[in-house]
Amino acid sequence: MDLAFDRDHIWHPYTSTLNPLTCYPVSRAEGMYLYLEDGTQLLDGMSSWWAAIHGYNHPVLNQAITEQVGKMSHVMFGGITHDPAINLCKKLVEMTPAPLEKVFLCDSGSISVEVALKMALQYWHAKGKPKSTFLTLRHGYHGDSFAAMSVTDPDNSMHKLYKGFLPEHIFADSPECGFHDEWNESDITDFKTKLEANLENIAAVILEPIVQGAGGMRIYHPTYLKRVRELCDEHGVLLICDEIATGFGRTGKRFACEHAGISPDIMCLGKALTGGYMTMAATVTTKHVADTVCSGEAGCFMHGPTFMGNPLASAVANASLSLLLETPWQEKVLGIEHHLSQLLPQLRHLDCVKDVRWLGAIGVVETYDSVNVSTIQEHFVKSGVWIRPFGRLIYIMPPYDMTEAQLKQLIDAINNALVDLM
Ligand SMILES: *Cc1c(COP(=O)(O)O)cnc(C)c1O
Repeated sequence: MDLAFDRDHIWHPYTSTLNPLTCYPVSRAEGMYLYLEDGTQLLDGMSSWWAAIHGYNHPVLNQAITEQVGKMSHVMFGGITHDPAINLCKKLVEMTPAPLEKVFLCDSGSISVEVALKMALQYWHAKGKPKSTFLTLRHGYHGDSFAAMSVTDPDNSMHKLYKGFLPEHIFADSPECGFHDEWNESDITDFKTKLEANLENIAAVILEPIVQGAGGMRIYHPTYLKRVRELCDEHGVLLICDEIATGFGRTGKRFACEHAGISPDIMCLGKALTGGYMTMAATVTTKHVADTVCSGEAGCFMHGPTFMGNPLASAVANASLSLLLETPWQEKVLGIEHHLSQLLPQLRHLDCVKDVRWLGAIGVVETYDSVNVSTIQEHFVKSGVWIRPFGRLIYIMPPYDMTEAQLKQLIDAINNALVDLM
C-alpha cells in the first residue's frame, strides 16, 4: 500500500498534516479479525467504530447487500419508496420502545442528531412558543457537525475554536453515580436546577442514555435517567435520547433507556444499525411530535438528504437487525459482561490505573495519565490486537460473538501495554 501517499495527502479522523502518524494497512477483515497487508492478524476489540456487532465479512449481511445491488443501489426517496426501507422501518418501529413510531432515515449519526434537534425546534415553533436552547450533559458526545457539536462537551470539542458561530446551549454536570453504585439523589440537583431556571427557552434535553461514550466512557446510574424523564414530563420538555452508541444491544438491553424503564420523545440511532457495513442512521419519534412538527408553518419536516433511505444500506441494516433478533444476543452480551467483570478488576492493581468499569459488551480502563496513542497502538499490534484508546481511556467494544479466550487476549494485551509503557 502507498503509505507515503496516505501520509502526505489523506486526512484520517482527528489527525494533523504537520505531524501525520502512521496508519496500519488493512487489506481484509473476517469475523473478529482485521488482516494487515503483511498477513498479520489482529483481534478487533472495537467492532470497527462500535458498529460491526456481528463481526466482519458476515455471509448473511454479504448476501443481503449483494442481492440488493442487483436490483438497485439507489433511487431518490422523494415521492418513491421501496421494500428495503419499508422492511427496515417496520423493524425499527417494532423494536424501539412505544410510543416511538415515526422514522426519519438519514446518512450518519451526526445528521440524525441534527434531525432530532431540528424536530424539537420545529415542534415548539408549530406550538407558537418558539424555543431554541438545549439542555445537555458535560462529557457528552453527539457528533462532529455543528449543531451536534454544540451539544457535545464544550472542552472536549473545543467550542472556543468556533466562538461566534456555534450556538450556546446549557450543560449540566454529568452524572457521578456509577451504574453499579448506590443512587445518590443529589446527583440530579444540577440538572434539575438548570432545567427549572431555563424553562422558557429549553426546547429539549439531549443526552446519551446510561453510557456517555466518546466524551469519557462514563457509565451512569439508571435512576439519573429516570429522574431526567420525570423532570421533562413535569415541565413539558422534550427528551432526545442519543442511542447511536448504545442501541441494538450494546449495554445488555436492546436500548440503554430500557435500563431506566423510560422512553424518549425522540431517539437517534446509528453505528450498529447496518452491522457496520454502510453509513446510515435514523431518528425515530412519536406521532405526537411528528404531527405537531407538520402542523406548523412549513407544513412538513424540513429535511431530505440526497441518499435518504439508500436501498443498499437499508437492505443490510434490515439483515443485521434480523440477525440480531434471531440470535440470543442478550445471552451473548451478558456473557461478555460477566467475563469483563472477572477480567477487568485485576487491572485495578496497576499503579497507573484509576478505574475500571463495564456494562454489557463495553469494558473501560481509565488511567491517571493520558496514553500515547501511537506508542500504545504499536504495542497492541505487536500483541495481535486492535484497540484504539483516547486520552486516559483504553476501552473495548467487541462484536457480540467474542469468546472468553478472545476477551482474555484483549485484556491481557491492555495489561501488558500498561505494565510496559506506563
Ligand atoms: C458516534 C456517535 C455520534 C456520531 O455519529 P457519526 O456517525 O460519527 O456521525 C453521535 N452520537 C453518539 C452517542 C455517538 O457515539
